[in-house]
Amino acid sequence: MKFVIAVGDGMADEYIDRLGKKSPLEYAETPNLDFVASRGICGMVDLIPNGFPPGSDIGNMSIMGYNPKKYHTGRAPIEAASIGIKLADGETALRCNLVTISDGIMNDYSAGHITTESANKIIKDLQKLNCDKYRFYAGTQYRHILVVKNIKIKETLTPPHDISATAVADFEPKNELLADIRKKAHEILANCGENKIRVANGEKPATDIWLWGGGTAARYPSLRDRYSITGAVISAVDLVKGIGVLAGMEVVNVPGATGYLGTNYAGKISACREMLKKHDFVYIHIEAPDETAHEGNLNKKIQAIEEYDKFIVGEVIKMLEEYEDLSVMVLPDHPTYVRTKTHAEGMVPFAVFGKNVPIGDSSVYSERSAKQSGIVIKSGEELFDKFIRGGF
Ligand SMILES: [Zn+2]
Repeated sequence: MKFVIAVGDGMADEYIDRLGKKSPLEYAETPNLDFVASRGICGMVDLIPNGFPPGSDIGNMSIMGYNPKKYHTGRAPIEAASIGIKLADGETALRCNLVTISDGIMNDYSAGHITTESANKIIKDLQKLNCDKYRFYAGTQYRHILVVKNIKIKETLTPPHDISATAVADFEPKNELLADIRKKAHEILANCGENKIRVANGEKPATDIWLWGGGTAARYPSLRDRYSITGAVISAVDLVKGIGVLAGMEVVNVPGATGYLGTNYAGKISACREMLKKHDFVYIHIEAPDETAHEGNLNKKIQAIEEYDKFIVGEVIKMLEEYEDLSVMVLPDHPTYVRTKTHAEGMVPFAVFGKNVPIGDSSVYSERSAKQSGIVIKSGEELFDKFIRGGF
């Protein structure tokens, strides 16, 4: 048996007046997603346990079958794992975004979708601050890591994408050390050569760092231990790769995978083909529906869903020619609303077909169709278990 899960990050949404009261998933041309639903079943799943925020870390670990209540220690430890940082006891990892703050307002949580190359130069400058207490590590694009020793963070640090176009003063860390690091970083970034080049090129400078998502080391049982299978993860996003590392999966780095529209879809698909030769399970993650929704750009979100349908799901379906026992599941990790530009709570629609899956009545994949099916799965852990072992 071969298993593929293709995640369209944040693709679930609301019914939107401008789309004739359809959701972006309903409005977009998605023949391949519909094929998955019509060859199997479509239903709703509750990926985010009560009390957890609807973040991509919680959603993706839940889809991979890890109950966040048992295994989630924070978002940054997962991303730290993805860039090879092994946290020791007593160490806390925090997400360190490069952001643009103008006149005290969060202008851009991604410093103008800064490239990894440009960001690395900036992180190098910040690493001048490295000391016994804390260290900066370069990740990708605007997503980086700060590791701090022996710190107790008693507050919930707000993600910068939740305070777009908002005054940051109310969301500053109260922890003195973190506030001090942020201040020192601001001074370095004000004089950073790479920022001067960015401004000269008409790009947004990384004026500040934004620290959030902290946590201590996470230890997961592997897929081999749990299901006697092996797997691979294909994603542009450190967070998703990190869950793969912690789950003992092979993590593939696809050149040109950007996490945005026009990402290297063909590269991800050929990686998927390679990985299916070696492993039982491949997890392909596409970030663009989430990013475009964070921008509040409805047309781009629809485009992102259509690209995911055509270049990922359509190509995965073609693999049925090689693997007739292939099981395929499609779903988002959480809804991301174009209207609010951020993640939303609530269940998400999934569609799945395979040897262990009955054929239901759904002919399309959408929020509405999933609700109408009456199929409700209580957790990601349960959904993954049914996907691998059967029992729908
Ligand atoms: Zn997400």
